[in-house]
Amino acid sequence: MRYKTILLFGAPGAGKGTQGKILGTIPGFFHCACGDVFRNLRIDHPMGRLFIEYASKGQLVPDEPTINLWSKNIEAATMHGAFNPERDWLVLDGIPRNQHQVEMLRDTLDVRALFFLTCSDMDKMVERLQRRALRENRLDDANLDVIRQRLEVYEIESKSVIGCYEKSLVHHIDSTNPPLTVLREILEIVAHLNAVAATA
Ligand code: ADP
Repeated sequence: MRYKTILLFGAPGAGKGTQGKILGTIPGFFHCACGDVFRNLRIDHPMGRLFIEYASKGQLVPDEPTINLWSKNIEAATMHGAFNPERDWLVLDGIPRNQHQVEMLRDTLDVRALFFLTCSDMDKMVERLQRRALRENRLDDANLDVIRQRLEVYEIESKSVIGCYEKSLVHHIDSTNPPLTVLREILEIVAHLNAVAATA
């Protein structure tokens, strides 16, 4: 079956992780951040080493191992009961990240909405990332060159991903606003989607 899915999309530091985590606490919603799946790997595991090799340079991990790891993670969450595909919404953040990943997940994801978080204030984003580097010990947030590289990779990839989905599914959200305002906007749309899904 294809998973009923909400995609969170936005530049590093735009706040998709914050919103995803909150949505994931609502019963009937399962949040999966691809970056967290990578960060939870042991660094002496080949996949953990592959992740560090790419993430430390601000680059994306190659698509095949990424999708493979992500699928295994979702299957494990399903087996453990954390995610119930029949009942739950899947809230994804950080995946699919380019056009090829969209294609690879075409038969797996039934995308009902894509929230595109935009933050025009570049200084604010860099500041959020540097604060996170200290708090969460993230090697890819600590260095300004790596941050810039990730923002560049994001610019290129984001346009191609957004273009893969019907315009009516894409919701632009201004994430320069405080998290509560952003959350309220997202929840209004999600509540509507949920009501529609319940009557289908
Ligand atoms: P951010 O959105 O702040 O860049 P993430 O936690 O989403 O942070 O990603 C951190 C790193 O993990 C990325 O720079 C990349 O190396 C790797 N990564 C995460 N998701 C993917 C993905 N879907 N495809 C390839 N690499 C990924």
